[in-house]
Amino acid sequence: MSKIRVRFAPSPTGPLHIGGVRTALYNYLLAKKHGGTFILRIEDTDQARYVEGAEEYIQNALEWAGLTVDEGVREGGDFGPYRQSERGEIYQKYVNTLIEKRWAYKAFDTAKELSEKRDENPNWQYDASTRMDMKNSLSLSDAEIQRLEEKDTPFVVRFMMPGNEKVEFTDQIRGKVTVETAVLDDKVLFKADGMPTYHMANVIDDHLMEITHVIRGEEWLPSTPLHVMLYKAFEWQAPEFAHLPLILKPEGKGKLSKRDGAKFGFPVFPLSWED
Ligand code: GLU
Repeated sequence: MSKIRVRFAPSPTGPLHIGGVRTALYNYLLAKKHGGTFILRIEDTDQARYVEGAEEYIQNALEWAGLTVDEGVREGGDFGPYRQSERGEIYQKYVNTLIEKRWAYKAFDTAKELSEKRDENPNWQYDASTRMDMKNSLSLSDAEIQRLEEKDTPFVVRFMMPGNEKVEFTDQIRGKVTVETAVLDDKVLFKADGMPTYHMANVIDDHLMEITHVIRGEEWLPSTPLHVMLYKAFEWQAPEFAHLPLILKPEGKGKLSKRDGAKFGFPVFPLSWED
């Protein structure tokens, strides 16, 4: 087996929850068991959710827990930058590759046009069955696309999810997972602000940072079929996936929250955090 490389990839949107600490722990333990590398990657492409001080909190919390990071923003390493907001040019290049390979396309629909569709039908989604009715580089004429581009019309880049395929992968915890692409939508890969979405940046970085095992919370399992399709589109080998069950409320329903911690008297955050 090639050398194990795992990453903990939090978004700096607030203090690190105990569930995140546990995800980091599993990554760390696998790396240490096999003499591998534990990477801390900061996923900060969502400017709207960025919280000042959260990145530092995450680094301090891992240090407090004794989860020594081998490669990261503070530690450096050969696969940097380790902060996604500093990797913009890399993502731009790869999104263009996907457009050229006809795995992605530009969509010019406005927020209003999209919400009208959803008002008409709450189950509406942008996908293989609806995309030709929308305003995008597949449905519009070349002249029309040129006109929109000359006017600097804002656009997003969407993944072109096939309409009629099966995505299959093996989750190390769940076993074989099969999903019909017909139920998946054309996810936005690149936003109008020029930043990639989580899916795009996450897959590109896991590939470029040579991650061998993606160990993360179960809330990401529904995103994995898209990620598997992205690996296919790029013709890259996908890493192994392991989705960890979440830490639940004591009654077993729903994710453990900050309020539960206060109510039951146990810490949900490793270090104190001033809002
Ligand atoms: N940035 C994601 C998070 O905040 C990472 C999920 C993943 O590990 O792929 O949890």
